[in-house]
Amino acid sequence: MTATAQARERVETLRKLINDYNYNYYVLDSPVVPDSEYDRLMRELQNLEAQYPELVVPDSPTQRVGAEPLKALGEVKHEIPMLSLNNAFSEEELADFHRRVKERLGIEQVEYAAEPKLDGLAVSLLYQEGILVQGATRGDGVTGEDVTHNVRTIPTVSLHLRGDKIPSLLEVRGEVYMPKEGFERLNREHLAKGEKTFVNPRNAAAGSLRQLDPRIAASRPLAIFCYGVGKVEQGTLPQRHSEVLARLKQWGLRTPPHVEVVAGLAGCQEYYQRLLERRDGLPYEIDGVVFKVDRFDQRQALGFVARAPRWAIAYKFPAQEELTQILDIEVQV
Ligand code: NAD
Repeated sequence: MTATAQARERVETLRKLINDYNYNYYVLDSPVVPDSEYDRLMRELQNLEAQYPELVVPDSPTQRVGAEPLKALGEVKHEIPMLSLNNAFSEEELADFHRRVKERLGIEQVEYAAEPKLDGLAVSLLYQEGILVQGATRGDGVTGEDVTHNVRTIPTVSLHLRGDKIPSLLEVRGEVYMPKEGFERLNREHLAKGEKTFVNPRNAAAGSLRQLDPRIAASRPLAIFCYGVGKVEQGTLPQRHSEVLARLKQWGLRTPPHVEVVAGLAGCQEYYQRLLERRDGLPYEIDGVVFKVDRFDQRQALGFVARAPRWAIAYKFPAQEELTQILDIEVQV
């Protein structure tokens, strides 16, 4: 077999596996392999596609976000796609990201908004004249699921914005998550009732939010942190991400703690170390940190590729959790 034929075979095997894992993770909210294993296979596929560009197809999991939305919930189109984030798993990969940003912008100094990478699921909240009218999941990035009935039950989701200069239409994006304590309590309750327990807080949050009956979401300990905006009409926002977060907070939205503006690679590395040390003490799970170019004009210049913006990177923490329930399943790779 030629090297290309061998690569083609491996690429097909990887795509099939990753698509199966995506289905279990995104559609059923029930992963069958640890994230570290998934990330390893995805990286292998990305490397093979980089080496053999003729093997890239538009529906490869490397080119797509999430998975098909559940039809039963109703569809919401995202006029501005909800993308994923590129990952860095080492200092070297973080340095590569920073170098590419500098080269593309043709500058030496870059400021990043540094934030915890919250381990939940992305949602879009639509406010019309300051009133929450719609909540949606990310879905496949273009079409999400309508979960308005469920987001309304989350105590930290603002139903009305407060303050002045609120755009007539404001789409806020954030992460719905389940705090560690609530997750443990929920699993204890399920265990006592002989019901299925959840693998981790991320999947418990997603499984709770993607329910038809809002009473289920209402009974689950869900919370939100808002970390960005999508569509905005008739209103202006500041020109820096960090200032937008401050504005969202003024309007009564719950923004993530530990957000800082850091300078260059050294600033990113220092922030990463600090958050890594605090990780276990936080009341919610984080699986890394996110660095986002702070200035919107620079973001605009950088743009995005298939499934992620060029102006942000998720610098992942070393794998911590393994899926204890599935450790004895042999992974067929
Ligand atoms: P991702 O989770 O790596 O990054 C993008 C997401 O980060 C966003 O959509 C948003 O929800 C979230 N996020 C958290 N904090 C944020 C912040 N401060 N700012 C912006 N976004 C923030 O990407 P993904 O596409 O959602 O999922 C891919 C990851 O999911 C994989 O790397 C893997 O870890 C996991 N996964 C696991 C399996 C499995 O079978 N175990 C399957 C699919 C995906």
